[in-house]
Amino acid sequence: MLHTGRHFLQIPGPTNVPDRVLRAMDQPVIDHRGPEFATLTADLLDGLRALFQTTGPIIIYPSSGTGAAEAALVNTLSPGDRVLIFETGHFSQVWRQIAERLGLAVEYVPGNWRRGASDVELEARLRADARHTFKAVIVVHNETSTGVTSRMPDLRRAMNAVGHPALLIVDAVSSLASIDFRHDEWQVDVTVTASQKGLMLPPGLGFNAVSEKALAASARATLPKNYWDWQDVLTQNRAGSFPYTPATNLLFALREALRMIHEEGLANVFRRHDRHAEATRAAVRAWGLEIVCEDPREYSSSMTAFFMPDGHSSDRLRAIILEHFDMSLGTGLSKLAGKVVRIGHLGSFNDLMLAGTLAGIEMGLRLAGVPHRTGGVMAALESLVPVSQPVARVASVT
Ligand SMILES: *Cc1c(COP(=O)(O)O)cnc(C)c1O
Repeated sequence: MLHTGRHFLQIPGPTNVPDRVLRAMDQPVIDHRGPEFATLTADLLDGLRALFQTTGPIIIYPSSGTGAAEAALVNTLSPGDRVLIFETGHFSQVWRQIAERLGLAVEYVPGNWRRGASDVELEARLRADARHTFKAVIVVHNETSTGVTSRMPDLRRAMNAVGHPALLIVDAVSSLASIDFRHDEWQVDVTVTASQKGLMLPPGLGFNAVSEKALAASARATLPKNYWDWQDVLTQNRAGSFPYTPATNLLFALREALRMIHEEGLANVFRRHDRHAEATRAAVRAWGLEIVCEDPREYSSSMTAFFMPDGHSSDRLRAIILEHFDMSLGTGLSKLAGKVVRIGHLGSFNDLMLAGTLAGIEMGLRLAGVPHRTGGVMAALESLVPVSQPVARVASVT
């Protein structure tokens, strides 16, 4: 089918790249060891600190999020170190694989893929580890395969209650710049993220935000590393450059995205995501379908996953929606393949894009013959603009 108008990219990353960001990239490459670049580096690191809510160092890699995850481990740990990873879904599985391939000893805390990391379980496991053999606790903040956001303040409290010295390494790839994330306040040691989700950039940049404690650990860590070595990056960054050719035009894009987030205000960015997530859940409930996340305290504000009714394939529904309405939705990952649909409502997004997204899903459910109730879109509109809300004042046209 021939498509007109804009494609709807409503997967939970990569997300829609705003025109302003696209235009910012469309420039000649500059000398990455010249004075103009040094100013760019300093500006970016400053802007990023505000975003991670930290005063500490930030490392930018030309990499995907998985690269930044590997960087977090090789800089802080040594072969055979024990790490505690919570099974939250597909992305916790990816962390387990990276850690195991690097020669770390992983203790994988089982989960049902409908809940976040348990603070109760964390406290119990750390309490049982009186000899402090766990060197790191690894948590996926927002599990993008399920739409579940772990409660970081509760997890931090559990670690502090035991007084366990393990590092806290957090995957914030699908939460940073969408869901409140406080690197310093939550005493996170390494925050890992990437460019293509809340940051509204194309894929290609990976980030580590690093605590003092993680920096100290990096001086003792003996896992092999070269490309990922924080020290080389930090040393060169002081002069405004990088130890290898950085992704110059993605950094132009990052500067523009940081400006946009700053203009909107970080708190407003979070509120916008909360509001769109709430409206999306209203639609799913009205359709009579089941949200994957079991605990309302853990609903994700950046994306929502819902189960298909038994006997109906989410991949077939997604294919029909792509064919008829030119919209891409997230596929079910790993053990949820074919069973769930994931709706990305993060990054560059607004009320009408959400309404269009939900309308596309509702029409798709109809075309695919998936049993559901109508009225999901109406429920979302009511959530966005309740009828009880006073009529907005419109500037008079004169
Ligand atoms: C997208 C994502 C990643 C993977 O990032 P890549 O850039 O694909 O390597 C890791 N963790 C989470 C939670 C994600 O959403």
